[in-house]
Amino acid sequence: MNENDSERIAGLLVEDGMVPTDSAEDADVIVLNTCCIRENADNKLYGALGNLKSLKADRPEVQILVGGCLAQKDKDLIQQRAGHVDVVMGTFNVHRTTELLAQARVEGPVMEVLEAAVLDENELFPTGLPTDRAVDYQSWVTIQVGCDNSCAFCIVPAVRGPEISKPFGDLVAEVEGLAADGVSEITLLGQNVNSYGRDLALRLRSADHHFEEREFERIAGAEWTHGDRRARPLFADLLRAVGSVEGIHRVRYTSPHPKDLRPEIIAAMAETDSVCEHLHLPLQSGSDTVLAAMHRGYTAERFLDKVRLARAAIDDLAITSDIIVGFPGETEQDFLGTLEVAAEVGFDAVYTFIYSPRPGTEAAEMVESFVDHAVAVERMERLRAVVERSSLRANQARIGRTDEVLVEGVSKRNPEMLTGRTRHNKLIHFPSSSKIRPGTYAKVEVTDASLNHMLGELIEITHPARHRTKIPVLAAGPQ
Ligand code: SAH
Ligand code: SF4
Repeated sequence: MNENDSERIAGLLVEDGMVPTDSAEDADVIVLNTCCIRENADNKLYGALGNLKSLKADRPEVQILVGGCLAQKDKDLIQQRAGHVDVVMGTFNVHRTTELLAQARVEGPVMEVLEAAVLDENELFPTGLPTDRAVDYQSWVTIQVGCDNSCAFCIVPAVRGPEISKPFGDLVAEVEGLAADGVSEITLLGQNVNSYGRDLALRLRSADHHFEEREFERIAGAEWTHGDRRARPLFADLLRAVGSVEGIHRVRYTSPHPKDLRPEIIAAMAETDSVCEHLHLPLQSGSDTVLAAMHRGYTAERFLDKVRLARAAIDDLAITSDIIVGFPGETEQDFLGTLEVAAEVGFDAVYTFIYSPRPGTEAAEMVESFVDHAVAVERMERLRAVVERSSLRANQARIGRTDEVLVEGVSKRNPEMLTGRTRHNKLIHFPSSSKIRPGTYAKVEVTDASLNHMLGELIEITHPARHRTKIPVLAAGPQ
């Protein structure tokens, strides 16, 4: 989500006439787009701001902007702790980036942190905003902001507000625009993507709204105008709709919540060719006691049921997850439950986190039951060992198979090799004598596999890259 916001901020700055640079010394504007999901992020921000202090003292005209979740949460604390920051901007102020910088040039330090509720749809989902995409053939697509859940450990609802979905018709139009631009892989983004559309359906049902046909189509999609309008749009409908946009070759999404992973979503994944055979399903814990204390809304057995259903419906499915160790009150027995579920699923990869108390969240108050840090570290190592075994097994199981690869460029370690990602989102390197443009799809036979990557041999190119290559403009315009 933050990367997507960073691309939008960069896009606005470029449109305002700025040119990206790799070095802070050369910059006129430095943006620190923050995340506060775990503690480290705070520490990193204040560390980075400390490092920029002398630069700002030498060149006071340089502007420093702090945006993102931490800015939303800490507001004026940032300017109190780091007086050299020019702009503090919340998560709902991205569309105001250049205006706020201009205002600060005239008035001195400014802070603007809006709450979601005061924004209209165009400001929340600024489709019209230019983005400076990191690569030209892949794009994030934000389908929903905020979160209506209340997981005891999580700060997201406090900094990103309640769930608001982007209208269905607008999303399909956005994806069509991206495809016309040469994008072939999209990743649908939201905190709980499979509850996408719940708020839109409520809006459509509310008695005091009489929607004209065109407005109904924009919000819920044309397909339902004359059909069963109830509870539409659904995430499953969206997967099918964006997945059949011409030119879109791969659809990914993150993150679904296990409690809301309904059969129609699994069916849409199975039946839409472009939707990748990869499910990122955050487990968080394998202990029912801990899951209940976290308010996750499922048990270990329910989670395993969803995994079984998904595997039965989708051939050759990769499953990845997020797991937290050391949630307050987690006992050795609870942790063994997590190890068991992880081993039973045999995840392809897992992001593992040590629980980090976030101010204002329910779990942060459970101080008496905090798990000793050394114990949490040791559990994390044991969990990693289990996960690494299944990751390696999953990668080795590919040997001898042919995977579709989206080529991302020349390997950083070895210039003779190309690097790409399979539909499972696994990294693969393969030698190539001819130059292949990033964004090209190829068939590659897997010849070897280790924990974090695979090796292969190019079989054939299936789809050449379609996007235009950007030529950087270095010289200024007319004098
Ligand atoms: N909406 C997504 C998660 C977003 S946060 C979901 O529900 O799955 C990404 C991951 O960060 C979470 O899945 C969780 O594993 C981790 N995380 C969130 N808060 C955390 C905390 N306080 N301490 C440690 N890990 C945390
Ligand atoms: Fe946080 Fe839970 Fe919402 Fe995910 S679903 S963003 S973990 S509150």
